Amino acid sequence: MTVKAFGAHAADKPLVAMDIFRRAPGPHDVEIAIAYCGVCHSDLHTVRGEWGGTQYPCVPGHEIVGHVTAVGDQVTGFKVGETVGVGCMVDSCKHCHACDDGLEQYCENGFTGTYNGPTPDAPGHTLGGYSQKIVVKDSFVLKVRHAEDQLAAVAPLLCAGITTWSPLRHWNVGPGKKVGIVGIGGLGHMGVKLAHALGAQVVAFTTSPDKRQDALDLGADEVVVSKNPEEMAAHTRSFDFILNTVAASHNLDAYTTLLKLDGTMCLVGAPEHPHPSPSVGVLIFGRRSIAGSLIGGIKETQEMLDFCAEHGITADIEMIKAQEIDAAYERMLKSDVKYRFVIDTASMGVS
Ligand code: NAP
Ligand code: ZN
Repeated sequence: MTVKAFGAHAADKPLVAMDIFRRAPGPHDVEIAIAYCGVCHSDLHTVRGEWGGTQYPCVPGHEIVGHVTAVGDQVTGFKVGETVGVGCMVDSCKHCHACDDGLEQYCENGFTGTYNGPTPDAPGHTLGGYSQKIVVKDSFVLKVRHAEDQLAAVAPLLCAGITTWSPLRHWNVGPGKKVGIVGIGGLGHMGVKLAHALGAQVVAFTTSPDKRQDALDLGADEVVVSKNPEEMAAHTRSFDFILNTVAASHNLDAYTTLLKLDGTMCLVGAPEHPHPSPSVGVLIFGRRSIAGSLIGGIKETQEMLDFCAEHGITADIEMIKAQEIDAAYERMLKSDVKYRFVIDTASMGVS
């Protein structure tokens, strides 16, 4: 089947309307009419070739919510009409240690990304959620239990939500823990909401003084404008855990010095250019760690979605038309997003 999509033909070209192919559902496939798709900074990094290896045409989008329109004859978990989500992965080997542990994002044979991943389908690489429909293997489809009128604001949970949830859970963030969230963008604003909901003391770090009140409203107990050295110094050696979501290269020592003994800063931001080397002295005087984390497994993504439905948590979004994606990217680069753009796929026209 042919559906309408938005994508780029080259790294230096804007996103344009295009027709793309979707396979007919196989026995284990779920066909989904996409209602909304969030706009992640990873979409921008990929479309503009900042990480290398982008295949064109590139149709990004891995924060997908929609409704099931068809299922394969072996699918038992989903019905036509059901509300579902798809995140950053559409396949993995399902037989390595990581997959056995429900950590498909660390699949030893490589997971298949929702876009720019290998597939036998035309054109030979996966095409993502900036499109009207997608066909996905049932084991990579998530159940969405939020109310229908919240669906646009649920879409960002499929990447920004799980990418912050997974490390917060892995490093046991909860009551009695002091947690920093660095960068109040799409990921960071979810990090603040989720760390707060998990019961931690939350400090938001931002380079944008105008986000101070917003960060408090999102659930931060305190906000630090990171350009202000005195505000930073007041938190020296005090954090159990810091989640760094910043999309650009920056000085990590400014944050590792804020960790207490045995504290960890986990990087989830994946900038185009490397960070300056962290100071070894700051790490060894305090047995501090710098770690990394990649999205989250399917099981924990479902747990996160259910937790958010139960606690009334969604993203703070600005809805856009597909034709506005490039302008949204430019605003994202200026940290001018409050706090996730979401594409209304109705703007793509009828196929
Ligand atoms: P985003 O919405 O653009 O937010 C990034 C935030 O970082 C900005 O809003 C800004 O917050 C801060 N920032 C930007 N430039 C900065 C600079 N030069 N110095 C300090 N702070 C700066 O991006 P996102 O969608 O949240 O994604 C963030 C990063 O995570 C991207 O690199 C993305 O590719 C990556 N990512 C990783 C994973 C993973 O699995 N690890 C998953 C998804 C995304 P303030 O205005 O508050 O300073
Ligand atoms: Zn993402």
